[in-house]
Amino acid sequence: MEKVKNSILVVDDEAMNITALSHILKQDYTVYVEKDGQGCIEAARELMPDLILLDIIMPAMNGFEVIATLKKDEATRDIPVIFVTGLNNAQDEEMGFVLGAADYISKPFSASVVKLRVKSQIQIINQMRLIHNISITDALTGIGNRRYFYTQLEQEWQRSMRQQTTISFIMLDIDHFKTYNDTHGHLQGDMVLKETAQIIKGSLARAIDKAARWGGEEFAIILPDTTMEGAKLVAERIRETVEAHAFVIDPSTTTSITVSIGINCNVPKRGADYTLENFVSDADKALYYAKGTGRNRVCVFTEMTDDTFPNV
Ligand code: GH3
Ligand code: MG
Ligand code: MG
Repeated sequence: MEKVKNSILVVDDEAMNITALSHILKQDYTVYVEKDGQGCIEAARELMPDLILLDIIMPAMNGFEVIATLKKDEATRDIPVIFVTGLNNAQDEEMGFVLGAADYISKPFSASVVKLRVKSQIQIINQMRLIHNISITDALTGIGNRRYFYTQLEQEWQRSMRQQTTISFIMLDIDHFKTYNDTHGHLQGDMVLKETAQIIKGSLARAIDKAARWGGEEFAIILPDTTMEGAKLVAERIRETVEAHAFVIDPSTTTSITVSIGINCNVPKRGADYTLENFVSDADKALYYAKGTGRNRVCVFTEMTDDTFPNV
């Protein structure tokens, strides 16, 4: 796979500087250019570059004002900024760092020093991204992990509350998975978990739908702005796809599994007693209802008819 180049936004009001910096960087990076502060702020939001090289003395809006604006905006605050400037005194340099600059390069600059300083910032940002990705991913299946998923769930719960839309939540558990492991071995069990995660991911139609490994052989899905009918469709699609899937053991042997699914849907109300914890725990009840009423089925919390909880 071809490696995607990191991107850098170069902002300077003098065409000569832009040309020189682009020339130095274009071989290793995708370079975008802007010639004033306003353009920089707009391009930063739109292009989300990995790094910004920012001049200080510019007409209309100077570099200090630009970085202050970038740092105020949640969307752009984490983009590192290197000042490249003719202001060479210690006070201006200090000011740059106080405002959140990652580095400070004085003009006239040497091409090799620009290259090295840019490279060091790009390495930091790439390492941070790698660590972030590891921290939000389940190592076995490659989909989201529970901790990250829960923060997304909290956000979606709040958003549904603001917008008064239905949020749907799906909990899914593989049936008799202990027996599967005992029969076919743990490694084969791991393979089933990986493929099930892919089936779940592949069954989600919208980019805002999110799936995660909740733990062990359990998975969870958030469907924002989705009614009970929609959630049932998704759940049923997953249930059927898993049931039909051949999990290969060797060229002549395949196995199959089934899953039980619980669904809960709600339009969260501000100040209501019904919390996100209640919402999740009721989806879990629906899941255990599905287990108790025969497994390989989808059950919605609000459609549970029997008050006496089935014996799982
Ligand atoms: P039920 O239909 O009631 O859900 O039965 P079950 O056997 O699936 O449920 P139980 O909770 O008794 O067992 C879950 C099993 O899931 C236990 C363990 O062997 C398996 N499991 C959990 N995490 C992993 C994992 O990371 N890899 C593998 N291979 N198996 C796992
Ligand atoms: Mg299970
Ligand atoms: Mg379980």
